[in-house]
Amino acid sequence: MDSLFRWTKIKFIGIPLIIVAAILGVLYALSYYYIKSLIIERMQEDTKSIAIALAYVVESDIEGYNNFIEERKAGTPYFNKMLDTFSRMREENNTIKYIYTIRKSGSNRTEFVLDADYATAQYPAGSTIEFVETLTDNVTRDTMETGVARVIPPTYYPDYGTLIGGSAPIFHNGEVIGTAGVDVDINTMYELLNGFLLLLIGAGLVILLFCLAVLLKSSNSILQDVLKDKLTNAYNKKYTDKILHSGIQDARKSKKDYSVLMLDLDHFKNVNDTYGHLFGDVVLASVAKIIADSIRKEDQFIRYGGEEFVVAVPNADTKQAAALAERIRTNIEQHEIYDRANGICVRITISIGVTGLNEEADPFKLLKLADDALYKAKETRNAVATCVE
Ligand code: GH3
Ligand code: MG
Ligand code: MG
Repeated sequence: MDSLFRWTKIKFIGIPLIIVAAILGVLYALSYYYIKSLIIERMQEDTKSIAIALAYVVESDIEGYNNFIEERKAGTPYFNKMLDTFSRMREENNTIKYIYTIRKSGSNRTEFVLDADYATAQYPAGSTIEFVETLTDNVTRDTMETGVARVIPPTYYPDYGTLIGGSAPIFHNGEVIGTAGVDVDINTMYELLNGFLLLLIGAGLVILLFCLAVLLKSSNSILQDVLKDKLTNAYNKKYTDKILHSGIQDARKSKKDYSVLMLDLDHFKNVNDTYGHLFGDVVLASVAKIIADSIRKEDQFIRYGGEEFVVAVPNADTKQAAALAERIRTNIEQHEIYDRANGICVRITISIGVTGLNEEADPFKLLKLADDALYKAKETRNAVATCVE
């Protein structure tokens, strides 16, 4: 496979794959953030509802709550009743990490008086902490000041992971006397979401592999149709400039030789006139096959006109190119082309012009020189001629 075909194939396969991967990536990123924000919103609402429910429970027995604060004793009927309430709430929502109430005391200090997870909580029931040290510092302060239930967005705490907090005011006689708070653990949700994303990435890879397989399977025949002439399997004329241009560039870069052949069948019109156009096509295809079989892998073969061809010959000076041309010429000369159905057998010859790259040559100049050389070869026909500037 020569370089134009290979590069076109790489582009033909690579560009759609990159586009599909980019579309999948954008879709994944958008859906990931959309789902994440939906879940977070839902968790924040849940957090707020739990905090409000807890505030109602406390308000329903404010006397018991106040007594508890006075006594600060675990194991009392009120303490146990509250522990039960907390436990039930934890059962209903297993993402709850901390659940507690905070009692206002003076203007700066607040007492942390209850936590359902009595045994393991950092601040066991009855302990006193400074308000500013609580996890939900801002939201609790805000709730205390405004009397409005609040939520905080996911926040990362080195000791606790990422938590969402909710806080609701506890009212007594129309005044906020404290807050009910809850922190839920969002790490499990993140883990689930990341698992889901991995699953999507896996599905995306399957889609990309499927696209790759389809493109690999179809690329050769599609590119063949686009790039090459059906009858002769040579590149279509419109790629001449591209082929020569990149060939010249490569040759200049690597300081290598580069040559061009121009080929034209001799008296081809006679073949058409004598045996018909259809048989003329058979002859053309046979000649094209001989040329293709005579050149090297890196040489590129173009159908330049009706029965005219151009062969780009990298890494070869005009002498080597002329030798190649001579090989093509004799291979064609020696070949007999049959039409068995009609008992026809013809031989055909070809004239070939050869030229090579010099300092200022460009595709147009090379073609012109090759054409001049061909013109010279046509003087005798069935000949190879070289023309260099
Ligand atoms: P010369 O040796 O001078 O090249 O003689 P020639 O007869 O080959 O002359 P010329 O190159 O001018 O003629 C080209 C002929 O090739 C004319 C046209 O009918 C024929 N031809 C061009 N394309 C095709 C094709 O696709 N199929 C067939 N059967 N004939 C074609
Ligand atoms: Mg001709
Ligand atoms: Mg011609």
